[in-house]
Amino acid sequence: MQAFLNDPASNLADPPKCDGNSVLAGAARVADLAASLAPARDADGAFPAEEVRALADAGLLALPLPPTLGGYGAGGEALGSLLLLDVLRRIGRGSLPLGRLYEGHVNAWRLILRHGGPARARRLAADARAGMLFAVWNTEGSDPLRLLPEGDCYRLEGAKTFASGAGDVYRPLVTARLPDGSVRMLVVRFDAPHDDRVDLSGWRVSGMRASRSGRLDFTGLRVATDDLIGDPGDYAREPDFSAGAWRFAAVHLGGVEALAEAVRNHLRRTGRGEDPHQLARLGRMATATETARLWLNEAARLAAIDAVAPDRLIARVHLARLAVERAALDTLELAHRAVGVQAFMASSPLDRLTRDLQLYLRQPAPDRALATAAAFVLNADEPLGDLWC
Ligand SMILES: Cc1cc2nc3c(=O)[nH]c(=O)nc-3n(C[C@H](O)[C@H](O)[C@H](O)COP(=O)(O)OP(=O)(O)OC[C@H]3O[C@@H](n4cnc5c(N)ncnc54)[C@H](O)[C@@H]3O)c2cc1C
Repeated sequence: MQAFLNDPASNLADPPKCDGNSVLAGAARVADLAASLAPARDADGAFPAEEVRALADAGLLALPLPPTLGGYGAGGEALGSLLLLDVLRRIGRGSLPLGRLYEGHVNAWRLILRHGGPARARRLAADARAGMLFAVWNTEGSDPLRLLPEGDCYRLEGAKTFASGAGDVYRPLVTARLPDGSVRMLVVRFDAPHDDRVDLSGWRVSGMRASRSGRLDFTGLRVATDDLIGDPGDYAREPDFSAGAWRFAAVHLGGVEALAEAVRNHLRRTGRGEDPHQLARLGRMATATETARLWLNEAARLAAIDAVAPDRLIARVHLARLAVERAALDTLELAHRAVGVQAFMASSPLDRLTRDLQLYLRQPAPDRALATAAAFVLNADEPLGDLWC
């Protein structure tokens, strides 16, 4: 990452200065807008287009870009990572579907900057600065994406599933397999509507509807060698692949905070907050959310420090991700017990917050994450209490 930041050819004449407070204020504004529109977005086929425009207007689509490309460089070093964590958390608090889309955009830029090289990053940065949302689409089903050499370019065949923003994201970074079995990354550049390639019939879900995580068929599209990013195997290269999990967990945490906030509002409104059982539940929710935030803070900080040993970093991030999941599951239970049946009424904000959070919490291989982290603990030389110092 550092090598690219120093690339003189990528310098903008007047790179913006990163002002963390104004970035966070912008994120809070977008989150408020997203929260106000979230009930309307809770429908099959919905997409938060206005909220994505607000992300662009607040400069947040440029947040992961280095200053030399007109961004703030958030995520590339420890302080920037903590800023990014707060932004992801805030957007998630406003809307988990929007947070999912934004996290995908940030992830794509992480991969482009790490593996794409300066010239390609410079070209794509113009699109991000112009308000285009990026994404990472890796998941696939029975018709996986293939990259077939054809003369001096490639032809795509196959589809991606669970592709958040399908049809509305014009710059997805996708993984595709070459005939020799190796996996490459590439950025597909859609320059016109392509709804005919999108199938949302499989995205009939209880929550996260507005993330539009449908199927997109790439068959017949041609891509140039120049659209390929990095070397074979770079997408799953560690420690970045596993350590990046702190970013989706940060969005989850925003959803947990929104749920706890909704319970607090309910208790105030109904005058039930002083009851000792309700107070105890609120206290446990406050502990759960802050515990998750502290875990994530440290994971995000370490993930930006190159000197941290990869297995230690991966273990730490896995545990942080699972601490957030635990906090979320505990908060869901406490919220439902605190509010009762009212929490399940379609008119209650808790109903949507619950459905979104329960679905979005389902991320790949949670058992493997715990086992990998536990194996690190088992084999480490340090006393248990000093493992993470
Ligand atoms: C809202 C939403 C948006 C998404 N957007 C995108 C996107 O834009 N791009 C993208 O690429 N993907 C996306 N995904 C897909 C996502 O990355 C994961 O593929 C998906 O969330 C996996 O969830 P899962 O619960 O099925 O995981 P799984 O990994 O299948 O886990 C399910 C259970 O099976 C266990 N398990 C896993 N592997 C094994 C095994 N080998 N043997 C035994 N047990 C096993 C797990 O520990 C867990 O208990 C999205 C998902 C969601 C929910």
